Amino acid sequence: MSFLEDATATASALQAYADHAQSRNGPVIDQQPIARLTSDLELDNLIAAGGLEGERLSRFVEDYLSASTRLHHPRYMAHQVAVPVAHSAIAGMIDSFTNNAMAIYEMGPAAAAVEQAVIRWMLAKVGWTATGDAQPLGAGVLTHGGSLANLTALLAARARIDPDAWAKGPSKRLVIIGTSASHYSISRAAAVMGLGAKSVRLAPADAFGRLDSGALPEFIAGLREEGLTPMAVVANACSTALGLYDAIEPIAAACRNEGIWLHVDGAHGASALLSPRLRALLHGIELADSIVWDAHKMLRSPVLCGAVLMRDPAALDSAFAEEASYLFHDKDQPGIDTIHRTIECTKAALGLKIFFALAHGGEAAITATIERQTDLAIEAAAYLRRVPNFEVAAEPETNIVCFRFGGTDDLQIEIRRRLTKAGQFYISTTEALGRRWLRLALMNPVTDMADIEALAREVAAIGASM
Ligand SMILES: *Cc1c(COP(=O)(O)O)cnc(C)c1O
Repeated sequence: MSFLEDATATASALQAYADHAQSRNGPVIDQQPIARLTSDLELDNLIAAGGLEGERLSRFVEDYLSASTRLHHPRYMAHQVAVPVAHSAIAGMIDSFTNNAMAIYEMGPAAAAVEQAVIRWMLAKVGWTATGDAQPLGAGVLTHGGSLANLTALLAARARIDPDAWAKGPSKRLVIIGTSASHYSISRAAAVMGLGAKSVRLAPADAFGRLDSGALPEFIAGLREEGLTPMAVVANACSTALGLYDAIEPIAAACRNEGIWLHVDGAHGASALLSPRLRALLHGIELADSIVWDAHKMLRSPVLCGAVLMRDPAALDSAFAEEASYLFHDKDQPGIDTIHRTIECTKAALGLKIFFALAHGGEAAITATIERQTDLAIEAAAYLRRVPNFEVAAEPETNIVCFRFGGTDDLQIEIRRRLTKAGQFYISTTEALGRRWLRLALMNPVTDMADIEALAREVAAIGASM
């Protein structure tokens, strides 16, 4: 079979998979044991003998899709991973086919141009203008996800306060200021940087984990008295568990007074910048030194597409100080290399997936979805508050809703376990406010209130049976 015939057949199978999931027939999740899947999919045989084309490919795709978790199902409400714009899968195919690993311009001029356009679009949403404009302000690069983007931002923060740390290791006892609501990739970054995960110090916050900017100066003074050097404050926009935004502007003011780098972790929530109505949640974001923004969460791009943006273009260049003579040397340069600015050496054409997600319906379509999902979360929370024995953790600011049914923390875990096993609903759980919650991330544009009401009935039925 030719590539063209196989690709066409696969596209039809994908469309049927999405249509079937969207019709609410069948489960959203069905986790078969890995040994059974390995055998049913005949993985070892196919690796050894080949033949994955034509009829055999169609059968494989069918089996693979039937064992896949259905993000297209309206009752997928579990994680912050996008239900991608279908056309952005075409970007994935173009990228995989051309394989233009574009971190150096000569390996992918078109991909580099697309990445640059996406970055400029993001910078403009923040209120910055990209290098090359009359008043250059802001620079950025795409990375394989928000965790690498957070690490990149923190490396730049460290380079500012301790420039020799790259070569010689830290010359000061550096700490990063976060909160209990910071994403774990922040403490991972601290550990990777050799600062130790415990160098993330938790600043005073309200019960919901929102950083208390008023208490920040005293907290910073206390760290300095301990002989520590705060290298960055990390603000959540929004937090992962509850989806709540820190108040960026007063945090930025405190950071400016103290001469400390402000990093805004907007992996999930920076997309609210698109909405004239929601962007107030990010008020003051242009005062940050660095921002992380994932496209594979609210911009409906396939995984993985993260962006790290910095106000000072030179700061981004300082994050990595490595030289590789076969890559970095004088050459004709009609475009831009991004390899100096990323952990990755070989890099996928990440911008293409974001571009396709945006350019299919235009940014108005994505904006409408972000607003719709936020409205749905607010309506869901209001509804869940009214159901007997249900409690809601916080008024949603994004598409995330945390709630619980009755009794104990263990009950929430057991409810989620039974839901997941039955497979008709797929939700997550989290800890916040000192307790365990059931958690919805309403990523799917076809999820509606009837799905939330059906979920509540199911949760109540499971809870009452225990
Ligand atoms: C999802 C998330 C991350 C991690 O991003 P990945 O793309 O999954 O690596 C970091 N911070 C916050 C606030 C997030 O929501």
